[in-house]
Amino acid sequence: MTENNCGWIAQTQASVAQPPLLGVQKADWLIIGGGFTGLSAAHSLAELHPQARIVMVDRQRAAQGASARNSGFVVAHENPSGDDLIGRVGNAYYQTSTEISRAASREVQSRVSRLKIDCDLREQGYFFAVHDPAKLEDAALRVQTLGETGADAQLLEGHALRQHLGTDFYQAGILCRGGNALLQPAKYAKGLRDTLPASVELFEFTDITRLERQANSNLRASSAQGSVEAPQVLVCVGPFLPRVGVRERAVFPLELSASLTRPLTDDEFDQMGRPDPWGVLSTRPGGATLRLTNDRRLLIRNTVELRRHDLDSGSLSVRRQTHLRGLQRRFPWVTDQHIQYTWTGHLSATRSGEPRFARLERGIHTVAGCNGSGVARGTLWGRLLAEMASGSQSPLLDKVLSQASPGWLPPSPFFDIGASVRMRYEACRAKSES
Ligand SMILES: Cc1cc2nc3c(=O)[nH]c(=O)nc-3n(C[C@H](O)[C@H](O)[C@H](O)COP(=O)(O)OP(=O)(O)OC[C@H]3O[C@@H](n4cnc5c(N)ncnc54)[C@H](O)[C@@H]3O)c2cc1C
Repeated sequence: MTENNCGWIAQTQASVAQPPLLGVQKADWLIIGGGFTGLSAAHSLAELHPQARIVMVDRQRAAQGASARNSGFVVAHENPSGDDLIGRVGNAYYQTSTEISRAASREVQSRVSRLKIDCDLREQGYFFAVHDPAKLEDAALRVQTLGETGADAQLLEGHALRQHLGTDFYQAGILCRGGNALLQPAKYAKGLRDTLPASVELFEFTDITRLERQANSNLRASSAQGSVEAPQVLVCVGPFLPRVGVRERAVFPLELSASLTRPLTDDEFDQMGRPDPWGVLSTRPGGATLRLTNDRRLLIRNTVELRRHDLDSGSLSVRRQTHLRGLQRRFPWVTDQHIQYTWTGHLSATRSGEPRFARLERGIHTVAGCNGSGVARGTLWGRLLAEMASGSQSPLLDKVLSQASPGWLPPSPFFDIGASVRMRYEACRAKSES
């Protein structure tokens, strides 16, 4: 049996717990959900409305959901798909999308430096790397396409790549700098949380299950023990909008699981050639994400599934074995004893890969659908959502809204069947990379 124990959270000093919501609270703004998106929105709202009372609620500890549990890649440049390459049909869209992602990465860097957050941020980029060279099609054009959008991208193969990563597993990879970065996500989330301005009051262990309009036209959000009445509500709960009582069908949850090893010994690190910390993203959606952390641990994330509830401990043990096999393919000396932490988390996905970013009705604004790049995009979206709800406009907000078409989802069970088939197909295509 495997305990769901996030290694990033375990290595981050816990914040002081805040009490649950009791009775009736009145506020100018309510933010439901304390992940990157909600926390970033709270900081921005407090700047925009210094006199306002802002309440934030989270159903568990704030800053300990997906925002603490992810792999810590700050995405400024996505690996372009075949259609995105220079001269192809999707290139113009890819360029706009990258402008947004680069702004999102800068937003993270700016929050980290303004709020003095210690989160092991490394701005030296990361790799898109493959075991099977056929999975890095058009490598030279890919490097050129990344360069066109401002990335500093370099193709590495064989020995040169081995020297960076300390394994022969990867045959080819693009080292992509120029905004792409790595961080310790639980520390970043905690940093955003612990620096919330005094005008933001946080209630934890407060599961909102109803959002309704009152006779005076304000909104009331209710949990089992209390409620908040406010004219403006920002819903930042990732894939779980229906749990709050918001009817929404564009976003669905994907459950990912990851394992983190203990720090490598000097001998193990020597075998790898003592490389600098690194990160590798797969070029296939079903492939593995890996990191060598600043304190010499290996991280792997190589499962993804359509699930609305956490895996039980027996199922998590099975995923842990999948992590172990993935690690051993790259580092044959890794054993089960190396793995110190295994955990899961839910990200919000959409059919098109673009977010749901909208005013749902008067006073209710939401964003969800980060599709795996929510460290950067969640941070940016939080600010832009606060600005949109405050009536501000900007060219960047316009760009985000122009791409915010999440796509239609068929009703259950058609969607669940279709999505499962698609995910099995992607897992097969990515078999060599898992
Ligand atoms: C294993 C894993 C690896 C990932 N790797 C990366 C990566 O490397 N890079 C990257 O950019 N992204 C990655 N992601 C995605 C990233 O973690 C998310 O996009 C990001 O955390 C989304 O932030 P959020 O604030 O929108 O949502 P969350 O962090 O999920 O925050 C939502 C909050 O809302 C709260 N909530 C939910 N329902 C209610 C309710 N009814 N009442 C009150 N509160 C509620 C939750 O408790 C939670 O704290 C990964 C995700 C996972 C799970």
